[in-house]
Amino acid sequence: MSGAFFNTEGISALLQQLDVKKLVELSKKIDLIQVVKNLNSMDESQLNMMLKMFNQKPKHRELPEIDGDFYDVFHTLSPEQRELQLKVRHFMETEIKPIVNDYWLRDEFPYEIIPKLRELNICGLTYEGYGCPNLPFLMEGVVAMEMARVDASIATFFGVQSGLSMGSIYMCGSEEQKQKWLPQMQNLEKIGAFALTEPEVGSGAAGGLTTTCKKTDEGWILNGQKKWIGNATFADLIIIWARDVDDNQVKGFIVEKDNPGFSVEKIKGKMALRIVQNGLITLTNCIVTEDNRLQNANSFKDTGNVLRMTRAGVAWMATGCARGAYESALDYTRKRKQFGKPIASFQMIQGHLVEMLSNLTAMQTMVFRLSQMQDEGILKDEHASLAKVFCTMRTRDIVSRAREVMGGNGILLEHDVARFVADSEAIYSYEGTKEINSLIVGRSITGFSAFV
Ligand SMILES: Cc1cc2nc3c(=O)[nH]c(=O)nc-3n(C[C@H](O)[C@H](O)[C@H](O)COP(=O)(O)OP(=O)(O)OC[C@H]3O[C@@H](n4cnc5c(N)ncnc54)[C@H](O)[C@@H]3O)c2cc1C
Repeated sequence: MSGAFFNTEGISALLQQLDVKKLVELSKKIDLIQVVKNLNSMDESQLNMMLKMFNQKPKHRELPEIDGDFYDVFHTLSPEQRELQLKVRHFMETEIKPIVNDYWLRDEFPYEIIPKLRELNICGLTYEGYGCPNLPFLMEGVVAMEMARVDASIATFFGVQSGLSMGSIYMCGSEEQKQKWLPQMQNLEKIGAFALTEPEVGSGAAGGLTTTCKKTDEGWILNGQKKWIGNATFADLIIIWARDVDDNQVKGFIVEKDNPGFSVEKIKGKMALRIVQNGLITLTNCIVTEDNRLQNANSFKDTGNVLRMTRAGVAWMATGCARGAYESALDYTRKRKQFGKPIASFQMIQGHLVEMLSNLTAMQTMVFRLSQMQDEGILKDEHASLAKVFCTMRTRDIVSRAREVMGGNGILLEHDVARFVADSEAIYSYEGTKEINSLIVGRSITGFSAFV
């Protein structure tokens, strides 16, 4: 053997460079003594090969999987439930993700996705009969989360269809009304909207609706305006909530889009949920027949029952939005390099990521239990409100950190997080603001109502 490597100075220089700790670690994996013995029997070409091997740069390290479910909250789902979760995730990632930013920017709805969404068979997921799958509320939440993880607008469109409008008919309609509308809505042949809030009345809808209804020989006459109504510009039927001028109670109506006296104007210039087509509805002596009055909606309490169910869904949606932002940010920080290193290797970036993950984990465990309570039949208004307040607040924090760790790119739509930042603002306000939902919880824990 040539003496180039094995002269005395060479060996002592080598020994000085040895890191004893590393050697000990290495000795647990390979037989070092055997390796040294083998060196003796190696010829020049074998030695060269080994040298080449040593000089090779280490291969790219395999990084951990990106998964926002850090506590494995969803491991308790049955195989069928898990399959549905992944089916929805696949749909969102393959059909929605590639087109979403373009539609968001153009402020338009991608109508072509409706037939594909139909194939998932997830509308009216928890309802019994009428072609609905009759699955637990938990799965409805999981579906909402998976949708919002990619896009909160599509999740909102779906929530209005499956939750608010189908839910109003399912919970407040007569058997004939359910038979007539629910199967067509379940397969998305008919699209629904839910119109409660008005230009002058939002939080105070319970006692303050100004849209009126009056029973006459011709039918019910509706007058007034409804603002912010999701899907309203293209919905086939709109659930209108109006105050009866005779008994002062809130009643619900199924108003079809071609009903004379009904008109809708698209609300333009939104900075959030731009894919959702929100409308300003005007009802001018709009006559609705008795068979289109929701037969079991007799007061605002009935409207409230629908809202309780869907508010839980909004908490799930916020969780999905937060999860999407966290996962996008984590992915970005592992790829983006500054100072010659991935920014994910910097302590302050890791601090942001861990704060995001801890909030996200708290949200996931909270909404999971919330839906279990719903499935157990013990969910109260205050439970849904607490989750709505907490999850939408934390989402705002998570999306803003996600934007922060992405630097300038965080404000570009192409990286998705900018859309999550904007959309979380709308989720924060709709279906009861932070203040209103806090007051609902406050009333429950103190015994005092602070509503004006
Ligand atoms: C994108 C989007 C989609 C929507 N979709 C629909 C839909 O499909 N159907 C529908 O019916 N509605 C919909 N809404 C309306 C939504 O539910 C209302 O915006 C929401 O309830 C708040 O009402 P508001 O905007 O009128 O705000 P306001 O009620 O005017 O409230 C303004 C502020 O005052 C605060 N406030 C009000 N009262 C109190 C109080 N007593 N104590 C302390 N603070 C108070 C609020 O918390 C808020 O911060 C949508 C809204 C948005 C933004």
